[in-house]
This record gives sequence, C-alpha cells and structure tokens, in this order.
Amino acid sequence: MNRRLFLAALTAFAAPAMAGWVRKSPLGNPCKPGLPDDDEVRALLARTWEGLDPTRVWDVHAHLTGVGDGGKGVWISPEMETWRHPTMRARRDFLLNASCADAAPGAVDAAYVAHLARLMGDHPAGAKILLFAFDHYHGDDKLPQPRNSTFFIHNDYARDVARAHPDRFEWAASIHPYRDDCVPALETAAAAGARAVKWLPTGQNIDPASPRCDNFYAALARLDLPLIVHVGAEATVKARHEEFGNPLRLRRALDARVRVVAAHCASHGQDRDERGRKVPSFDLFTRLMCMPEYAGRLFGDISAMTQNNRSAQMQTVLARNEWHGRLLNGSDYPLPGARPLISLRKLAHDDLLDPALIAPLDRLRNHNALLFDLALKRHLAWEGKRLPASVFQTRDFFRIA
Ligand SMILES: [Zn+2]
Repeated sequence: MNRRLFLAALTAFAAPAMAGWVRKSPLGNPCKPGLPDDDEVRALLARTWEGLDPTRVWDVHAHLTGVGDGGKGVWISPEMETWRHPTMRARRDFLLNASCADAAPGAVDAAYVAHLARLMGDHPAGAKILLFAFDHYHGDDKLPQPRNSTFFIHNDYARDVARAHPDRFEWAASIHPYRDDCVPALETAAAAGARAVKWLPTGQNIDPASPRCDNFYAALARLDLPLIVHVGAEATVKARHEEFGNPLRLRRALDARVRVVAAHCASHGQDRDERGRKVPSFDLFTRLMCMPEYAGRLFGDISAMTQNNRSAQMQTVLARNEWHGRLLNGSDYPLPGARPLISLRKLAHDDLLDPALIAPLDRLRNHNALLFDLALKRHLAWEGKRLPASVFQTRDFFRIA
C-alpha cells in the first residue's frame, strides 16, 4: 500500500478509534475539574495573587478556536481534519486537548468556550482574558484565500463570545489591512467593543512594512487601538511568509504612531538585520526597544516565553528592569495546556524556577492551564529579579477608566 492509500485508510478506519488519543497519552492534558484540593497549591495561588488587583488583571493573548461545528464564525482548514496531513492533524488534536474541547465530539466550538469560561471562573472576580479573532490569509489581490489559511475566526464570533461572558471575556478583532473595507471594518469592530487588533503576518500574508498598511495604521492611531503582532518564527499556523515576521518591519506602524505589542517579544526564530545578516529575532526586538522614540509606543507580550528553548530570552526580560513598564502578560491560551511545550524541569535547570515549585505547579496544570500559566510567571526569578505586578495588571493599557 502506498503512503496516500495508507493515510486514507487510517483516516477512514483508525481515526475515530483514535479520538481522544492525546488525552490518554502521558503527554496529554487530563483536564481535571475544579482546583486541586491541596495546601501546597492553595499556598501557591495565594502567593500568585498577593499584590495584584484582580480587576486590573487581563490576559492579553488568547486564541479562540474550534473546528467549526458550532455553525457560526469558526472555520479550520480541511487539512487539519485528515490524517493525510499527519502533522497538521496531530497539531489540531494537541490544541483541542490543550483546551479540553477534545471530549465533546460534535460540540467542540461550544466546549472550547465553556471550558475557557470555567477556567476564568476559578480566578478572583474581575480578572479577564482577551480573545482573538483571526482573519483569513489574503492575496496581494486583496481577496481572502481559504486555501492558504489555517483557520478563520470571524470578528462577530469573537464579539458574541465576549458579550456572552462580559465579566470574564474581552475581544480583539483581526482585520487584514489589504482589504478594501479594512478601515470601516476597524471602525465597526471598535464600536462593538474590540480592545485591539491581532495580526499574524507570516500566516496571513501581511507585510507590516508595506505602504498598503498606511490607511489602516492611521485609523488605528486615530482610534487609539493597539496592534498585537506576532513577530519571530511561528509554529502553530502555516507560515508562508517568514520575512513578514521580522520585528524591524514594525517600524512603519510605530512611525505612524500606532501602539504596537510585539507578541512573545519575538523570542523565537531568526530574521535578517539591515545588512542582510541572519540574527535572532529577539535581538531585532531588543534594538527597537532601545530606541527612545519608540518608548510609549512599542510593547512586548510575554506569552509563550516559558516554552522550551526560550529561557535565555526570558532571563533577559527579567533582567531588564527598564523594559518592565512595557511588558504585558498573555498566556497564548490554549498552549499552556499542551504539556510538551513547557518543561518545568527545564525552567528549574535554567535557574528561572525554584525546583520546589515544580510539583504544585504540575498539579495545578492538570486542572487549570490559565492559573498554571499565571502562577508560573508570578514565580519566575532570574538573579533575584522578578516581573513586577504591572506586567500582569494590563487593563490600563487598554485605556479603561
Ligand atoms: Zn498566539
């Protein structure tokens, strides 16, 4: 049997039996209910919230997804549904398990939201999370291309999910700047309560340095809406345009007076500097952070920075006191629920985490990926330095009175 036939057979016969395979594996999220009933975790959580005003704690980076079975506003690439594309399919299954939506076949979209609401319900009152819509890949001809998109989350869907849980959820729109209607779409989103705009340039075919973005930048600046942009390498979504993730390409937005949040502080991947040399993307982010004209305009979110192989960048972020006022905490949910991505042992080995905290953090992770992410970051330390409360109290960044 050739490879294609084999994979087709696998899809037809084995896939249904493999539903839930991630959860059953040692690498899976067991999705235990509630919070662990033990004193060590209770003490960990008490220290996590000490010195924080929960009403100002917003998680600024979270993904809304699903598989499209809710009938409104969620679409994922058919490539993710079949074992003919094993990497994409495995990725999908890991993400669904990370979000505990894997146990609800036929109702995955609803389960995704319900579980997120439950995780937030275990936070003190007032704490919120910013959920991202996700626009299609668009061609240079300004038209959406589902064929090149990994997933699509309609702005109206993000808006409606946020409205259904106003005490816990906020939302960010995603609008491709090459669209003819990009400015009116932005105005509509702003009027409907969007707090920011999210782009993934490498996966959506957006060149942030292109003059084609200028009208959109002008509108963002006028509406005072921040732009959260993925920079550096991307691992979850098909990245067809790696060069668009270069942090230096953010200068056009910054020069247009847009407040820009560089997702993950560009902590992963390499990009070319002005002289064409490949350097860590993080070095290019660092260079922009050091430019005085971008103070008050360029920010970084620390989502995903506890993932494996980003320890050096995390150490730098902890060490640079002068950056702390420009950092925003985000979880990159559902990724903290994907066990293979964050190794507590590695963080301890890299002197970022007290080894005594590995066990309680691990138990917390089995129940609540969001509180796990927050507790972990509140306890990170590098040479005695920790992230101040302001990194977590991000509500004010969104100009909420
Ligand atoms: Zn993300």
